[in-house]
Amino acid sequence: MIDTRYLVVGGGMTGDAACRGILDVDPDPDAVLLLSAEHHPPYARPPLTKSLWKGKAESTIWRGTAELGIRERLGRRVVELDLAARTALDDRGDTYVYEKLLLATGGRPRRLPFDDDDVIYLRTLDDYHRLRRLADAAARVVVIGGGFIGSEIAAALAINGTPVTMVFPEPGIGARVLPATLSTALNDYYRDRGVHMVAGAAVTGIRRGSVMLGDGRTLPADAVVAGLGLEANVELAEAAGLPVAGGIVVDAFGRVAGRDDVFAAGDVASFPGGALGGYRRVEHEDHAKHHGRLVGGNMAGAGEPYEHLPFFYSDLFDLGYEAVGDLDSRLDTLTEIDELDAKGRVCYLDRERRPRGVLFWNVFGEVEAGRSLIAAGEVVPREPPAAVGGTRR
Ligand SMILES: Cc1cc2nc3c(=O)[nH]c(=O)nc-3n(C[C@H](O)[C@H](O)[C@H](O)COP(=O)(O)OP(=O)(O)OC[C@H]3O[C@@H](n4cnc5c(N)ncnc54)[C@H](O)[C@@H]3O)c2cc1C
Repeated sequence: MIDTRYLVVGGGMTGDAACRGILDVDPDPDAVLLLSAEHHPPYARPPLTKSLWKGKAESTIWRGTAELGIRERLGRRVVELDLAARTALDDRGDTYVYEKLLLATGGRPRRLPFDDDDVIYLRTLDDYHRLRRLADAAARVVVIGGGFIGSEIAAALAINGTPVTMVFPEPGIGARVLPATLSTALNDYYRDRGVHMVAGAAVTGIRRGSVMLGDGRTLPADAVVAGLGLEANVELAEAAGLPVAGGIVVDAFGRVAGRDDVFAAGDVASFPGGALGGYRRVEHEDHAKHHGRLVGGNMAGAGEPYEHLPFFYSDLFDLGYEAVGDLDSRLDTLTEIDELDAKGRVCYLDRERRPRGVLFWNVFGEVEAGRSLIAAGEVVPREPPAAVGGTRR
């Protein structure tokens, strides 16, 4: 039996932030124990599709969790919780007794529905290493998926001179998030940079050396990377009888419903959406950092509600954006983007024409204006609000 005041399960960006949040309030590092299934200490995941492909050293990704002086046990997966006894059991048979528990178990990549042993699902540093070795051997890579991971890794590979094909069922890159004109314009942008684009196609199988499509075509592939979205790692919580609805359901303080000793944060948590209403699960870095830190503080008694509206960002070759709120291409939008490589903005509106999300295209450091717009919740008139600018489309 290993005793600890605070047990943090999950060594991602949220787990790291939570340890910091605990220490903000209860500065006794010996009281904090972090367990992670990964063999690496906490690191930033965004560089795995971005800066590491642009010459940044791998040493830049570490979060420096060990320097906090807390106890870390890596390569340990928690397999069972006993909420009544306040214990957690890991996959090597060790049992931990806690006073406060945080579940920061994140998520795992959604997989293809058929045999996919050779597919790289890019989530971890080990996945990055595997892909890097193949890319350095100038392998032809097929990237399945046109969302965040697919679009970023296709650009990263192409920048490094790797022959890349991108295949996805939607008509354009980022189609679920970006307005249609922007999304399809990105296809041309990628094509101009040497990416072989196969939009509107479904992958039906993979055999060593080729990816098969529903229309009978095959794409040659020395390596296949898939970015198909995330499934939250909720099984541990579910098996313990904790409330799960897409993610582990928590209140504004990160407490799991009905308990004051169990918390959840980051990608795995479903939390009250504040200005946007309802419950939401957010899979982005800014949320991992803010939610993790705040909930960590609350484990130690801070008692602060989560009111932060997280932003997210993406890099696509020389283009980039930051965004806040709901970006759903099914919503009405006010779009001001004249050229892909110029600055622009998109405001996403609900049925009553209230702003739900704002996309800042090649514009950085303005998300606060987007937050204010969403929080104000004012009906947008025929002309767009000043913070968003532009013309109605
Ligand atoms: C390649 C990539 C690029 C990204 N780019 C961006 C970006 O540009 N912008 C952005 O905003 N966000 C981006 N993200 C998303 C962002 O990185 C995530 O939202 C964030 O890292 C989530 O952190 P987390 O700690 O909540 O979850 P995770 O990172 O999933 O960490 C959970 C950890 O818990 C461990 N674990 C799970 N179950 C157990 C268990 N039972 N016992 C012990 N340990 C367990 C896992 O092994 C893992 O280490 C990117 C993600 C990836 C993968």
